[in-house]
Amino acid sequence: MKKYSLIIHGGAGNITNLSDEKRQSYLDGLKECLGEGQKMLSLGRKSLDVVERCVNIMEDNKIFNAGRGSVINAEGEIEMDASIMDGSNLMSGSVIGLKHYKNPVSVARAVMERTEHVMLAGEGAEEFANKSGFKYFKNNFFKTEARIRQAEEAKKRKKTVLDIDDLNKNKKMGTVGAVAYDLKGDIAAATSTGGIANKLKGRVGDSPIIGAGIYASNKLAGVSATGFGEQFIRCVVSFYAAMQISDICQAPGACRIAMDYLRESVKGLGGIIMIDRLGNIGCGATCKNLIHGYIGSSAELFTSLTPSS
Ligand code: ASP
Repeated sequence: MKKYSLIIHGGAGNITNLSDEKRQSYLDGLKECLGEGQKMLSLGRKSLDVVERCVNIMEDNKIFNAGRGSVINAEGEIEMDASIMDGSNLMSGSVIGLKHYKNPVSVARAVMERTEHVMLAGEGAEEFANKSGFKYFKNNFFKTEARIRQAEEAKKRKKTVLDIDDLNKNKKMGTVGAVAYDLKGDIAAATSTGGIANKLKGRVGDSPIIGAGIYASNKLAGVSATGFGEQFIRCVVSFYAAMQISDICQAPGACRIAMDYLRESVKGLGGIIMIDRLGNIGCGATCKNLIHGYIGSSAELFTSLTPSS
């Protein structure tokens, strides 16, 4: 059994012409996260705290499509979705369509820990965040110059855009997620996103849907997904991937099987990261790029923009 492990992602899709500077910012963003996660895990912190912290760091980093820097919908607004799941007891929490709170994954954790519910949406989620003491920000706070340009371009072309497949030169990506396996062998997962650019107001992707954009069970695996949410919902990808784990199938194999299923059944576009019940790391994608990083068994940090296993 592994001591501890951590894998994170920052979106999937097909990147073209990414400048060296941008590439470096993604890799630096991942490294910051992994460094913090590694510190926490080595000190014995639980996987739930680690995935929340890693996702918070990426939500606060404007290059990722989550929290500040999220993509803009067809009405010119930002609506964020997030989820978190504790594999030790299957407790889970998620929020849909948050507009004014900068760390949606922490609000999702509060839903899990302070209510009897799993999901809160829209106005109710906003009121809950406010009553729970989360700081309010104007919606404009979340919009970056690059996102505004991306939204204008998407509107012109009358299409929704998976963040990583950006239309212009200001490549901006992507949905974020983390899966951790702690010293006790507990698994947790978290996912946070602004969704897809130019989405209809009220559209809900896979990221806050348990089983689609996230899943965690100590008996199987923890999974976080990124890609065209509608396809991931239809294939219940995260649960499907976790269900592949068996005595003869570990995380890398399970990710491969799930990505084949996504590709073959709906021509789905995206990727997943996973840690299985033994602490093995895996990831897979049906597209060229998966921005991700992990701490492998040798405790070294690994980061890459392309699927690595
Ligand atoms: N899965 C997210 C959604 O559909 C988008 C992404 O992963 O980039 O909302």
